[in-house]
Formats: sequence, C-alpha cells, structure tokens
Amino acid sequence: MQTNMRQAKERKKNIRKSYLFILLLVCAVAAAYVVVNIIDNQTSYHPPNISGPEAIPQNAQSNSSGNGKGYANENEWYLILVNKWNPIEANSNIEVIELSNGERVDERIYPYLQEMFDAARKDGIYPIVASGYRTEEEQTRIYNEKLSAYMADGLSYEEAKNETEFWVAVPGSSEHQFGLAVDINADGVHSTDYEVYDWLANNAHLYGFITRYPFGKTHLTGVENEPWHYRYVGINAATEIYNQGICLEEYLGKVN
Ligand SMILES: [Zn+2]
Repeated sequence: MQTNMRQAKERKKNIRKSYLFILLLVCAVAAAYVVVNIIDNQTSYHPPNISGPEAIPQNAQSNSSGNGKGYANENEWYLILVNKWNPIEANSNIEVIELSNGERVDERIYPYLQEMFDAARKDGIYPIVASGYRTEEEQTRIYNEKLSAYMADGLSYEEAKNETEFWVAVPGSSEHQFGLAVDINADGVHSTDYEVYDWLANNAHLYGFITRYPFGKTHLTGVENEPWHYRYVGINAATEIYNQGICLEEYLGKVN
C-alpha cells in the first residue's frame, strides 16, 4: 500500500514535470517567434500590397495601347484623317522640325522622309520638299490667292470657290497644317517632276508614305489628283493602301 502511494506520488510529480516542460516549450517557441518577427520587420522591406492582379481595374488590363489589335487603329497619330469633312482640331500639339531649305514637317515623320529621300537619290532621283507644315495663316493665304486668281480669270465667287477647293484645302482641313504631309517635287536640275512622281508612286509606301489624292478617288478625298502630295501613315497602312489601290478614307472606312 505504501509502495502504491509512493508510486502514485511519483507519477503525479512526473506528470507535473511534463506539464512544466510543455509549458516551457510553448513559451520558448512563442518567444522565438516574437524575436524572429521583430528582426524580420527591422531588416526586410515589405512592399505595400498593391501588386496583386485584384489591384488593377478590369478595363485597365484590356485597354493596353492598341497592341495586338492590328494596325487599323485610327487613334494612332499617323492615321488621323484630315479632310474637308474631318477638319483638324484647333489645338493639335505639333512639334515641327526645320529642313535645310526652311520647310518644316512633324518631327516624328522626319526619319522616314530622310530615309525615302536617301533611297531615291541612290536610284538617281532627286526630290525636294516643296511644301511641308503650314500654319493656319499660311493655308489661308494660299487659299485666298488661288481664289483671287480664279476670280481675276472671270469666274464668279461661287465658281472660283469650287475650283479653288478642288486644289487647295479649306483652312483647317489641310494635312499640311498637321505636319504629316509634304508636297514633293524634283530639284529641277538632276530630275524632272514626273521622274520624281513616278519614283514616289512605286516606292513611297516602303517608307510609310501614300499618295494621298490618287486618280479616281476625288469623290472620296474631296481633292483632285495631286501626284506631289504625300502623307505619312506608317509602313503597314501605306503598304496595305498601295497593294489594294485604295485611298486613306477607304482604308479607315470613313467614306462620305
Ligand atoms: Zn499638298
């Protein structure tokens, strides 16, 4: 009996020891966890939690700037349509660059224009930019001069106006005011105008330029054929327009 009681006491002691041990172990683990956490917070940078996909609005993910949507994106700066039915926006922000002869173009088309002229010269053709960027005032002056000349020839105001608008864009609707168009002629020494027009008709698309007012498209462009007037639209659009024999209005599906 005495032995049994001693054994029972012994067992109780052991159990108490075990509880104590477990308690110490739990305390030690908790202490270690706290210490590690403090060190971790002091030494490592935790970025704010905004990088998960849930932080990006749905429409922001699908609205990436036209990538993978093909090239007929009319919102691209080089595909914006300017004609008498789609006049230019008044405060378009145009950065122009001056050419050696004083003419100016939108600086974004300059490298392609230079490349095209270099290629022409390699083929023995010598083009010049006869007219590039024009301000509203310059376009107005050109328009009025043409109008006056027709009236001096005996046309009525209405007749002169109609005739003028076949050749000169109404101020506000000229691609020249946009800086993306150039009138290209020959230097008059090494090439004739028609040699230049011929070369351009066959090669300009390779550099992103199109003949903007082709034959047979006056009803769509609103302008008579002008073999000297070239417009930058980018190489993809220019190649497509060239291959299909269409005008910019048709390419963009904006036919009046
Ligand atoms: Zn022109």
